[in-house]
Order: sequence, then structure tokens, then C-alpha cells
Amino acid sequence: MSPNPPPPSRLGVNTRALHGPAGPGPDPLSTPIIHSVSARFESVEAMIAEKDRQSAGLYYQREGHPTLHACEQKLAALEGAEAGLLFASGMAAMSCLFLSQLKAGDHLVALEQSYGGTHALLDWGKAQLGWRVDLVDARNPEGWAAAFRPETRLFHVESPTNPTLCVVDLHRAAQVAHQHGARLSVDGTVASPVGQHPLTHGADFVVHSATKSIGGHGDLMAGVVLGKREALHEVWKTRKLLGPVPDPAVAWAIERSLKTLPLRVEACNANALELAVRLEVHPAVARVNYPGLIHHPQHELARRQMTLGFGPLLSFDVKGGLSAAERVANGLQLIRFVPSLGSVETYAAMPAHSSHVHLGPAGRARAGIDEGCIRLSVGVEESEDLWADLDQALAKAASLHDQKA
Ligand code: PLP
Repeated sequence: MSPNPPPPSRLGVNTRALHGPAGPGPDPLSTPIIHSVSARFESVEAMIAEKDRQSAGLYYQREGHPTLHACEQKLAALEGAEAGLLFASGMAAMSCLFLSQLKAGDHLVALEQSYGGTHALLDWGKAQLGWRVDLVDARNPEGWAAAFRPETRLFHVESPTNPTLCVVDLHRAAQVAHQHGARLSVDGTVASPVGQHPLTHGADFVVHSATKSIGGHGDLMAGVVLGKREALHEVWKTRKLLGPVPDPAVAWAIERSLKTLPLRVEACNANALELAVRLEVHPAVARVNYPGLIHHPQHELARRQMTLGFGPLLSFDVKGGLSAAERVANGLQLIRFVPSLGSVETYAAMPAHSSHVHLGPAGRARAGIDEGCIRLSVGVEESEDLWADLDQALAKAASLHDQKA
């Protein structure tokens, strides 16, 4: 048998998720965990050669290590990137990316609808490093160019956005950024590396919270930045300096999860569409945000841009606002109330109490987040069981709402 599979570009997504490049000698089915912080070198020359391998070597674990590198290569193959770098969390990935691209006083453009932690990072950068930040509306591409200045270095977008589920036209975002001499970074956490490929639309970097669909079981924390090898060099230097490198056991767990990533994502996405369609006509629901719905303003764009469905995340506004949504959340019996997403189990969350608490009511209104918004991250359970749970929780909240009205 030939030890080397065909190049990843010739393989389907499920095959890419399982087969990485073969190592020398007998090729273990599971990537060996090398716990060693460094190696014992036979000569000065051997040590220098290992250090020159940078994130791929075993010079010193903070610079990268073999278990991590195997996982980074597989992630890059799934995303369609030249290379990837893993971090200890999604926020570590984003922070190192921003710090590698922005000097003190530099300008960046981001979305009003960004994840709450991204807003917090931007506020920190403004206060500590004098970053200048302009926010634009994901839904209004015509307005993006006006926010750029000669000193703009980065356009950071998220698609789909959490929890508003706006879909950003990535091709257009790349054009606007590049016309203004800036780079485009895309937070693709909600779609996952198999649900969307921003680099093919012209993005320079893709960032994911690997805590979500990549890990997929609610039991690990990590993040990843992917892109061209050369462009990642500064990001790698920042990671090496600040040190948020996942340890070998976490790297192994991520790589194991990658084997089922396309299967999980496709199953979650199908369930999410099913629930969105049903929620849309539920009398206790004022609005459903899901790019798979034909009434979604960017449905056609999502069809062109997303693969394996429309993502596992949806959100809906409960009639009656915050208190009605709290009753729905408290009434769920099967679906777990968890401030995370992208797991095999279905999670409900309230952005006003978790991911977007930092923005306050006015900031949430600007980002298009209703106080009565419930975010669902849909898992792989039977959709009928999920629906039965949602329906009973909504019915309870609706009957209390009727009594008050
Ligand atoms: N980006 C998005 C879209 C997220 O939803 C999150 C976390 O919820 C992050 C980034 C941050 O990831 P982490 O929690 O792994 O630091």
C-alpha cells in the first residue's frame, strides 16, 4: 500500500477529516501524544535545525510541538488553508491575530454585530494601545468603505454573526479591505472550517473558536488562525511571545474531534433548519434568525457561501421580551441552558445575560439583539425530541404572557 494518500484538494471533506499526511515508519491510527516540553539534541547544529522548523518542530513547546502541528495541518486541509496555528482559546487566537497586525494607534474596522468578546477585546485595545476602531453594519455592505482610513490595517468580520445570524458577503468584504490597503480576517466559528471557506473568497485570515464545533463535545477550549504560511509568521511570533499554546493532550483531543467534524456539522445543521422552520410559525415567537430560512435577508448569499447547510446556530425573539424569554429558558427540560455553542448537545443561551452582556441594552439594540432573544446551538439529538421540548417551554411562557396581557 502506498503510504501517502492523494493531496487533500482531491479528497472529499469526510476523507480529509480522517486522513492526514502519513509519518515515517508504521503510521499510528491516532496521533501520538508527545508530552515532552523539548528534546535532547545531539549537537548544536541539530538543535538549531529543530528551532528553524518553528511551529512544526520540537524545540520548545511554547513555539509549537508535533502533536499540535499534526492537528494544525489537518485543520488547514479542512479549511483549504496553507497553514494554521492553534491557541489555548478562541479569544487567545483573536488577540494574537490582532496584536500581530495592529501597532499602537492603528485603525481597524469591525462589525457592530461582532461576538461580545470581540467587542471587549477592541475596547481593551482602544484603552491600552490606542487602537482606533470603527464599527459597521454587517447587513449594509454599501456603508463599509466609508469607515476606512489610510491607516486602516484590518477589517475584521464574523459570518454568520453570533447571535444575530447575519451573513457577510465575504468576497465584497475582501475587495473593500484590499482596496484600502487593509487585510481581511473572518471569524468563522459559527460555520466551522467545513461549513464555509473564507480564504477562497479572498480573506487573509480565518479565525475559529475551536471550543465550539471543532472540539464539538463541550469538553475542551482552543482557537485557531488559518491563512497563508507567510502571513501567519507574525501571528506565530505573537503566540510564541505570549504563550497561549494548547498542550499535547488538548491538541490530541482536537485532532480526534476533527475526524467527525463534517458528520457532526451536517447533522447539527439539518436539525437547526428543521427547528427554525417550525419556530418561524410558532405563535409565541416574534422573529427567527436563521440563514437557511428563505425569508432571511441574506439567504441567497448564504446558499452561495456556506456548505453542508446553514450552520448549527439560530436565534429567536420570544414575544413578551426579556421576562418571557427567561421563562422559556427556565422551562426547557431536555435542552441545556449553556453559554456556549457548537456541541453535539443542544444548548440554549440568552445573549442579554451571557455573550453580549458587555454591550448593555443600547449596544445590543445597535447590534440588532432583542432583549427577548434566545440563542439555540442545535446538536445531533432527534429533532422531534428537541421540538417537543421547545414547544412545551414556549407554550408555558405564552400562557403566562396571555394572563398578564
Ligand atoms: N468567536 C465567536 C463567534 C464566539 O462565539 C466565541 C465564543 O463564544 C469566540 C470567538 C471566543 O472563543 P473562546 O470562548 O474559545 O475564547
